[in-house]
Amino acid sequence: MAEMFYEDDADLALIQSKKVTVVGYGSQGHAHSLNLRDSGVDVTVALRPASASWAKATEQGLKVAAIEDAVKDADVIMILAPDQFQRGVYARQIEPNMRDDAALFFAHGFNIRFGYIKPAAGHDICLVAPKGPGHTVRREYEAGRGVPVIVGVEQDASGQAWPLALSYAKAIGGLRAGGIRTTFTEETETDLFGEQAVLCGGVSQLIKYGFETLTEAGYQPEVAYFEVLHELKLIVDLINEGGLTKQRWSVSDTAEYGDYVSGPRVITPVVKENMQAVLADIQSGAFAERFIADQDAGAPEFKALRAEGENHPIEKVGPELRKLFAWSKPDADFTEGSAAR
Ligand code: NAD
Ligand code: MG
Repeated sequence: MAEMFYEDDADLALIQSKKVTVVGYGSQGHAHSLNLRDSGVDVTVALRPASASWAKATEQGLKVAAIEDAVKDADVIMILAPDQFQRGVYARQIEPNMRDDAALFFAHGFNIRFGYIKPAAGHDICLVAPKGPGHTVRREYEAGRGVPVIVGVEQDASGQAWPLALSYAKAIGGLRAGGIRTTFTEETETDLFGEQAVLCGGVSQLIKYGFETLTEAGYQPEVAYFEVLHELKLIVDLINEGGLTKQRWSVSDTAEYGDYVSGPRVITPVVKENMQAVLADIQSGAFAERFIADQDAGAPEFKALRAEGENHPIEKVGPELRKLFAWSKPDADFTEGSAAR
């Protein structure tokens, strides 16, 4: 059984006694910074001077400084730049300027697990990884709730790394929901596997094949969209609330019977073998190497794949249909149908 931690297991005063610098103000960065601030923590947002986020963070009443300056007297440095840029930011702006005993925090173990960042022995290396998107981490905190976190320590130089990590997890609201102890290796490998095999990669491919099968058989794209994409959320909400059993309780007996007899015809044991191959590439570092090599070259493969994804016919019918749903609100920094981000 996993070891679980809640609010009473952490001492908020620990992180409140530290100077915390959060590097980056994106999805996770804005959520961590604002939640820490609202939990009474002294927080500075560290950004590149040219960053568009500078104005946003300032408007929220946060202290903002250039990365080089913001890390200088920090006790805790949470690195929330995109994974592919962390190694460069660390080598150029963080490492030369931080204190020898600054604690380094991550929300995903990628750079530590695959050795792109190798901090010296004097630093605590901690992981506080919310199991949800940054915007939800902020929204839940504001609602008095939290997003579950998994917490780990790779290097305990101070002897206090674990209570410090738990204290941070509490300050961002994670222990309201609950924390689980993990390691950088477990978090990194399971996180990459989950998003590749199931959550992002697997689901996207399943939706596309479903849409293609229906439209190629002559059904209307709009109807196909509703059946294989729109309704997915309704099903996932039920699964999220009560597992596969609650989903099966809510759908008709016809749907439930079809689930049992056709699910295993679509997702055959070969799919599991494919998943095992994907996991092997994650564990060996082959996926990380491919991702970073492409990013270092200016991301030609990544950009081509993104453009191809946005050109799929299901992405053409979607924007029109979503206008029919008065309740689906746009996200301020998400632009429909644009590869530019
Ligand atoms: P993001 O892309 O949303 O934001 C990154 C921010 O870093 C930018 O907004 C900017 O302020 C800054 N930045 C961008 N490019 C930079 C550069 N070249 N140099 C320095 N700073 C730069 O990133 P994110 O999705 O919040 O991810 C941050 C970390 O959190 C990653 O380690 C990621 O794996 C982890 N994480 C993300 C989520 C999520 O919800 N997106 C969930 C769990 C963990
Ligand atoms: Mg993830």
